[in-house]
Amino acid sequence: MWYNIYMERNTVDILGYGVDTFSFDNAVDYIVNNHGQIVTINPEMIECADKDNNFRTIINNAEMVVPDGIGIQLGLKILGKNVKRIPGIDLGKALLIRANNLNKSVAFVGAKPKVIENAVINIKSELPNLNIVYQHDGYFSDANVIINELQEKQPDFVLVALGSPKQEFFISELKGLLPNAVMIGLGGSFDVWAGMVNRAPKIYQKLGLEWLYRTISEPRRIKRIFPSLPFFVLKVVKERMIGR
Ligand code: UDP
Repeated sequence: MWYNIYMERNTVDILGYGVDTFSFDNAVDYIVNNHGQIVTINPEMIECADKDNNFRTIINNAEMVVPDGIGIQLGLKILGKNVKRIPGIDLGKALLIRANNLNKSVAFVGAKPKVIENAVINIKSELPNLNIVYQHDGYFSDANVIINELQEKQPDFVLVALGSPKQEFFISELKGLLPNAVMIGLGGSFDVWAGMVNRAPKIYQKLGLEWLYRTISEPRRIKRIFPSLPFFVLKVVKERMIGR
């Protein structure tokens, strides 16, 4: 198998955040060769990071920032930049497949106990040789306990589903301790892998309307998208017209 190890990052700026422009396959190649933290950015995260300097620093120090959904893609389009979306859940799955092919070890942290249990069972049935060295649900009182256990195991890939920004802070704590690991925050992906939540049908995915499907199926999400998304679009339009 041949991977392009000489690739470099090429980011575009949106509201002061650098977003990578890798194609999906190049994103996987790049991060597997270079390790570090992947942030799957969306407008709600930008809104949160604008109010929290520590979160902003984590995003801007990540080794890769991918445009997870239609919001960032739309924002970049308004700024005249065409960048393809890289859904975190797909990137997470691609990393598992790569780990499986390269015989690398994997750790899972996050979601409710039953959810992570079922997600791992389903993943194992798809990738029976995957070397899973650690798994823990996301409802712990002391993150240091989990961090110490992960440090002992030294997994090559760490998939964290604690919601944002919790998962990004958790990964940033781990970075110095697992310098050669690839680590990604995956939001609600374990719930999908566990079969607890249905992923949007393909047509919604194609049209970039997964958020609409998720909002219809889980109306409590409306609070997350509004007013975040319209505000984000307004800010981008302002940046386009008069600068930041
Ligand atoms: N979660 C967790 N620990 C927490 C809070 C949330 O493990 O303290 C999990 C939750 O069970 C879910 C995921 O984090 O599996 C976050 O899902 P959400 O839908 O909020 O994230 P999104 O996909 O919108 O980022």
